[in-house]
Amino acid sequence: MNTRKTKIVCTIGPATSAFTILKQLAENGMNVARLNMSHGTHKWHSEVIKHIKTINEKTGSSVAILLDTKGPEVRTGDVKTDIVLHKGETLTLTIRRQAELEPYCVEINYDGFVSDVALGDIVLIDGGMLSLKVMDITQTDIRCECLDNGVLSSRRHVNIRGKSADLPSITEKDWQDIALGIENGVDFIALSFVKGAPAIEELQQFITEKNVPIDIIAKIESAEAIPHLDEIIAVSDGIMIARGDLGAELPYEEVPLLQEQIIKKCRIAGKPVIVATHMLESMIVNPTPTRAEVTDITQAVLQGTDAIMLSGETATGKHPLKALEVMDVVARRIEREMEQDTKVMVQASDNAKYEIARSASILNNNLKAAATLVFTRRGLMAVLLSQCRPNGPIYAFTNTTHVRRRLGIHWGVSAFRIKFSNDPEVSIDRAVTQLQHKKLLKEGDRMIVLSDILAGGKFIETVQVRIV
Ligand code: ATP
Ligand code: MG
Ligand code: MG
Repeated sequence: MNTRKTKIVCTIGPATSAFTILKQLAENGMNVARLNMSHGTHKWHSEVIKHIKTINEKTGSSVAILLDTKGPEVRTGDVKTDIVLHKGETLTLTIRRQAELEPYCVEINYDGFVSDVALGDIVLIDGGMLSLKVMDITQTDIRCECLDNGVLSSRRHVNIRGKSADLPSITEKDWQDIALGIENGVDFIALSFVKGAPAIEELQQFITEKNVPIDIIAKIESAEAIPHLDEIIAVSDGIMIARGDLGAELPYEEVPLLQEQIIKKCRIAGKPVIVATHMLESMIVNPTPTRAEVTDITQAVLQGTDAIMLSGETATGKHPLKALEVMDVVARRIEREMEQDTKVMVQASDNAKYEIARSASILNNNLKAAATLVFTRRGLMAVLLSQCRPNGPIYAFTNTTHVRRRLGIHWGVSAFRIKFSNDPEVSIDRAVTQLQHKKLLKEGDRMIVLSDILAGGKFIETVQVRIV
């Protein structure tokens, strides 16, 4: 079986947190498990992490763990029963903390909301399931007119069109959740509602001080992030295009264009990018995707995204394994089509390591090699190779489980653990044996090998064409 190049992130929730289901997800192609700290207790999340680590140890899988922070999100409070609203009716949002509120009045979890909104602003509840226009603001209350009919249930997302909440990027709760992630050895931390580089740098510094190998993914979901895309991409280890809130703070018709633009920028910068939210939304309920959803996955794969993500589909949906299968099948089909083109579409540079990776990709495509093998301690050469998007699979060999898991988010890379020998020839032999054993290479196959060789008493990086 050929390896899929586009990686799949699955959000774990009540529908998938059992050991047996997690194991099935891992066996069926989940590359990264996402834990959303907006939901669930620390005990619940720790349990899921423990299960995934056990599965990796027992089955040889390499599922990475991504802890997604709640971030400075604004939500409505609890309502006793759902509030049914009609166009033209009034709904009051309040920061008053009292047990009983009057009818058609709902709490907002963030006190600064009254100063963030202005008269005439459009407030979206639950990603636009309900749109409100701000008519009057007092010290505690915001009186709004409903622009459509809709229903308000408990703890729904709130966005102000075109504005981001004036909240710290990393909240007190986030720091507690980050501590949990560090304690439990997660691979990625995703920062929600990032507005610029400083929050990412702050977390980076914290992680460096703790001396733990965790990569930071910046979630692009707030309007304020858009003018700072380049600096955000430059300082983070990866990007998530969180289309849900992005399409609420900005008009939704901006989202597809931003997706294309962000993927392009990430590919040029060599940072992994995840397309997230609503990819197979209808499969939360239905056993089969809409054709529009299949087209959405196709578009992301064609754009060369590193990863695609499932949210509610795997967290609470009725068909989590089927949703994973749909992503897997669609991505593979489109990737097969993309391999028809042998051009390597990346820019030349004056960086020697990158040029070695680019040369390896050109060799891979022109010689129609069975695979490219890369030997890497920190993962850098594998990432550079992935950035060049060669046609054949990239088999990366590394000596730590963390680097192996982390590479799981990068396009085209299948990573394996190996004991490095002082003699690079011995390492290559070990790698080829492992791949033959896994039936990923067979005798007579042509392969491209990117490794060190010993020349004149020094290790130097080379690209070679070899036959198994
Ligand atoms: P975000 O904006 O961060 O994505 P979300 O509320 O949309 O927040 P998702 O991670 O997209 O959350 O998951 C979709 C839904 O699945 C959530 O709204 C929630 O109802 C449910 N869910 C996700 N994770 C959990 C969990 N750990 N425990 C319980 N329910 C969860
Ligand atoms: Mg969130
Ligand atoms: Mg979501």
